[in-house]
Amino acid sequence: MSRVILQPTGNKDAREHYVDTLVKPVDLLKIKPFISTEEFNHLVELYPSGLVPTWGVTAGVNNVNANKWRKIQPADVTFFSANKVLYSYGFVTFKIHNKLLAQHLWEFNSKGETWEYIYFLDELREHDIPISLFNEIVGYSENFKVQGFSVLDEDKSDALLSYFDLESETAVQPVSEEEYRDIIESFDINILDIEGKTKSRAEQGFLRKALFGNKTIDGCGICGKEYPISFLIAAHIKKRSFCSNEEKLDYRNIVMPMCKFGCDDLFEKGYITVNEGIISVNDKTTTIPLKIYLSHIEGMHCGYWNVDTIKYFDWHRNHHSLSKV
Ligand SMILES: [Zn+2]
Repeated sequence: MSRVILQPTGNKDAREHYVDTLVKPVDLLKIKPFISTEEFNHLVELYPSGLVPTWGVTAGVNNVNANKWRKIQPADVTFFSANKVLYSYGFVTFKIHNKLLAQHLWEFNSKGETWEYIYFLDELREHDIPISLFNEIVGYSENFKVQGFSVLDEDKSDALLSYFDLESETAVQPVSEEEYRDIIESFDINILDIEGKTKSRAEQGFLRKALFGNKTIDGCGICGKEYPISFLIAAHIKKRSFCSNEEKLDYRNIVMPMCKFGCDDLFEKGYITVNEGIISVNDKTTTIPLKIYLSHIEGMHCGYWNVDTIKYFDWHRNHHSLSKV
């Protein structure tokens, strides 16, 4: 589950770092000499633009910050605060412990420490939340102030992320196959409370990770066009609500990428089906713009149709042909 990280930026160093390496992201080529090839390749995948919003914390007294930093995972959300306001947030993509890189970016503080517990962010956005509202949402007393780098527990994180409905478009929280199994087996669609929403996010996160890995761009399984993955859905071929738990656990075959520009909805509503690997168009109420869209995809080959997925495509086709009667 995504956690919330609180990052006060009241002091001079933090204010400078916020501008120097976040608002103005760091050129990946500046980072390259300090990291391994593997880390570099991972950052290239995460930041195709080559510009990397970078943050770091010092080890802290008795490693207190380092220990908190160890809990950070991709898709966690960092809120920056100053003057009793959480004024912006961004999603964590990756982290590395690297003293030399930290020295290169930020040098040292007055105690001779550097901000070597580094983490990278994306989708940085301004969003003013008065601390009083924050305290109310997470259940802190009204006198609470953000005084140090901290990571909220799961319940408080859930409360805040659900309240603002915050979810990364690209970073995916790591959900293990075992956790996914637990979610599938304990999921109760009738309970759409915070816990239900959290599980649903984790389920979709797992499926997206399984489908896209670390890619930031992929092709739509219907129209074949390439898009940033925030425009692609990990769409169930057989409608999710009709899938048995066993089918949901067949996650390598039950979902495929479909674009938000129309393919996902057209497939979901049965305007298109896949027959023997070929996209066919159903005879449904339509309009001229829709006909034009459909004419572009009709007859295309669907790369996700194979011996393992055929049963799901057949279910989808039968489901929609029956519903017409
Ligand atoms: Zn598409």
